[in-house]
Amino acid sequence: MTATGAPRVLLVEDDPQLLTMLRILLTEEGYDVDTAADGQRGLHLGLTRDYDVVVLDRGLPAIEGLDLLARLRGKGVVTPTLVLSAQGNPADRVAGLDAGAEDYVGKPFDVDELLARLRALRRRHLDVARSLPLPGGRLELDTRNVLPDNGNPVRLSERECALLATLAARPGHVFSRSQLLGLVFGEAESEVVVDTYVHYLRRKLGRRIVDTVRGRGYQLGNSR
Ligand code: CA
Repeated sequence: MTATGAPRVLLVEDDPQLLTMLRILLTEEGYDVDTAADGQRGLHLGLTRDYDVVVLDRGLPAIEGLDLLARLRGKGVVTPTLVLSAQGNPADRVAGLDAGAEDYVGKPFDVDELLARLRALRRRHLDVARSLPLPGGRLELDTRNVLPDNGNPVRLSERECALLATLAARPGHVFSRSQLLGLVFGEAESEVVVDTYVHYLRRKLGRRIVDTVRGRGYQLGNSR
């Protein structure tokens, strides 16, 4: 929230008319609105400023919407996000929710419904802020603690936490090593660093926290 108590929204949309329309609408609704017209700018704002909610177009120049969202989640940004998409079929909706979106609205959308969904999103988020579910527990992003359903908290390093948060933001999704390298560690390092940190996570949290998918990469463990 801002000093005046207005909720802050980040709006990422490359269609100039739609961007203007949504900015006016959200401002009238009482939001303090920041806008970005491409994925790169959206990512920069999302990483450097605090928002109460993000409205994200899926088809964007520079960085595609779902990729932007995965990168934010990988850096521990858990701001609730509503994805807008012209591709409104059920498979797209699943892809959006898989990428860590809390809600997904197909274009064209009804304005009142969009505003109602944003209000619901912010209400829900207050209850589950900054924590991600894991098999057998959850990850608290503020403290970098894994809280098992039974047992004592386990503290992670910054990079261990970033890797686990990236995997946990998209359970069921298989990440290649090069993808994880880009999302978590930066392209300058070797892919071996990914294997090393998977090893660290398994040593701290048990083998089954991360599954190896032969020939493809890693995913969050799905065993209980
Ligand atoms: Ca677009």
